[in-house]
Amino acid sequence: MTDNYKDEITEGENNDRDEDKKNQMRFCTLCRRPESQTGKLIDLPNNIHICSDCMQKSFDSVNQQISRGGFNYSDLFNMPGVSLIDLGTLQNQMAQPRKAPQKKKAEEKKPALDLKKIPAPHKIKASLDEYVIGQEYAKKVMSVAVYNHYKRVATDTMDEIEIEKSNMLMIGPTGCGKTYLVRTLARLLDVPLAIADATSLTEAGYIGDDIESVVSKLLAAADNDIEKAEHGIIFIDEIDKIAKKKNTNQRDVSGEAVQQGLLKLLEGSEVEVPVGAGSKNAMVPLVTVNTRNILFICGGAFPDLENIIKERLNKQASIGFYADLKDKYDNDPHLLEKVTVDDLRSFGMIPEFLGRLPIVFTLEGLTEDALVQILREPKNAILKQYQKLLALDEVKLEFDDGALHAIAAKAMEKKTGARALRAILEEYMLDIMYEIPKDDSIGQVIITGEYIDGTGGPKILLRGQETPLLETARG
Ligand code: ADP
Repeated sequence: MTDNYKDEITEGENNDRDEDKKNQMRFCTLCRRPESQTGKLIDLPNNIHICSDCMQKSFDSVNQQISRGGFNYSDLFNMPGVSLIDLGTLQNQMAQPRKAPQKKKAEEKKPALDLKKIPAPHKIKASLDEYVIGQEYAKKVMSVAVYNHYKRVATDTMDEIEIEKSNMLMIGPTGCGKTYLVRTLARLLDVPLAIADATSLTEAGYIGDDIESVVSKLLAAADNDIEKAEHGIIFIDEIDKIAKKKNTNQRDVSGEAVQQGLLKLLEGSEVEVPVGAGSKNAMVPLVTVNTRNILFICGGAFPDLENIIKERLNKQASIGFYADLKDKYDNDPHLLEKVTVDDLRSFGMIPEFLGRLPIVFTLEGLTEDALVQILREPKNAILKQYQKLLALDEVKLEFDDGALHAIAAKAMEKKTGARALRAILEEYMLDIMYEIPKDDSIGQVIITGEYIDGTGGPKILLRGQETPLLETARG
């Protein structure tokens, strides 16, 4: 504003403004509206000002109480007119200016991760071995990647050699242990884990979960501790379902757009996420989470990927002197291992997305023998769980070799990997779990192959007749 212009302001205007200022300075102590809005304030002792509306409300409630008979007249005489206003509280309120809600601070700044405490890759793998059967290659790759990732987080060096993130992409058929591996890993490392389903994600503004909701899930898993969440793991399952849709002329809000949206999360950026909700709206508080140190693991079954790989290999093999038989790869069980980034691109993953998942590895489908091992060997094997349940009734439970293979064979037919095992076992154990507690004299139950095949029943032994544990049941 120039000096000339200032001079043009008349004295009257100045006076008006002063008056306004004065009015704005005074607020109703109850409703906090300025005097310019409420009309003249009523002054009470101790610097308390009440507007006529609030005063009227006080009187109304006094009258209501009187009419209900719940009002003590002596109160009215003690403090006429303002008997419902607690002056002491008001004064306290005025003395302490209201605090804006603040981000919860971590109680003490402790080092997030101790470099010495991160187990070496072979130790991580050994721990995984206790729970996960087979998948040797996957366990090895993951152990090294996780070790490197947390070493990078712990040192947090920002010199010229910046270590890149070790985000991973796991490819493997359903039920082969992708989720289980990640879950076990997070538990061993004691870091929060969020498991999200890529199919539920859509571009912001469309029906479905916003992409950033995966970070809010992690925050919830970390009990809303931002620092803890920033070192967590996010597992995005069914990642193959967000492949670019082919032959579509509509906006691809749940495919390519989700891949695009995930880019900045994968790479590391500050995102504002709603606390405890799938999408942002006015009612949900927001916090800022940095995804730089969050480990992203994507997993998917990628059906049809084998055909893409086969096509590429066949094309290569049909040229020149090295021309090969066309059906050479038809029954190759290791076909998936030959996957390249180009195959994934043909599948519909965009190059920018693949570029942010530098570690790509495959998991094998489980064989019948692996399923038998899964039944009895892991630390929390399903058989061990049933044995423990029956042991509480002081009954020994065993499965003979035939039973284990029969269960595994049935699971193989379902083509859902190890996931089918529990359902099958539940089915056969139902009668056993129902009948055994009825009879106190039963000391041991042996599930036989015939029982599973439907050609016989389980062996039931009375107390005192129990046989020593079968070799198979000991695992
Ligand atoms: P997906 O590969 O589809 O994510 P999951 O990891 O959810 O499959 O596996 C389902 C269940 O099967 C797990 O909870 C786990 O109990 C069991 N399972 C699968 N694979 C293995 C494995 N290799 N070793 C031990 N258990 C496994």
